[in-house]
Amino acid sequence: MNLKDYIRVIPDFPEAGISFKDITTLLQNGAGYKKAIDELKELVAHLKIDVIAGPEARGFVVGAPLAYALGVGFIPIRKKGKLPYETIEAGYNLEYGNDSLAMHTDAIQKGQNVLIADDLLATGGTISTSVNLVRQLGGNIVGAAFLIELTHLNGREKLTDVEVLTLLSYE
Ligand code: 5GP
Repeated sequence: MNLKDYIRVIPDFPEAGISFKDITTLLQNGAGYKKAIDELKELVAHLKIDVIAGPEARGFVVGAPLAYALGVGFIPIRKKGKLPYETIEAGYNLEYGNDSLAMHTDAIQKGQNVLIADDLLATGGTISTSVNLVRQLGGNIVGAAFLIELTHLNGREKLTDVEVLTLLSYE
């Protein structure tokens, strides 16, 4: 099966006009989930990665197994108010709604090579905010890797100085 065959598309979720790419059908299938992480590992094989950072919550289910597969650490980028230690925060707009993301001030060592990982690139708001937070902490962004890119939302345009790597794209 192709990776796309594991993904379910739900029209009008969470609101009218949004075509939601549901990855739960991929995650619940052992062969599908493994294939996705194995393919992502290949996709980023040319990069020198010290650590992976992923935004809550679907960035965890992509970023953490990829970090394990590569033998590097994983840093959770969380919604505001969830991290217990000192944080830096930044606000962002989503395809639907807006939110704030936070990282621990000691999450990254200066100069570390950081790959950002998430399930899906839509408008790029989540990832450009994640990139900004990592850079504020002194991290060197080596790329941003996704399972899915929604090309019509032009998220890449917000990430012009980042190598964007995606496995699947939807119009
Ligand atoms: P962006 O910030 O690029 O506009 O939106 C990407 C974020 O929203 C990702 O963290 C992703 O998890 C979530 N997201 C937006 N649209 C979808 C979708 O159709 N499917 C899934 N699985 N996540 C989405």
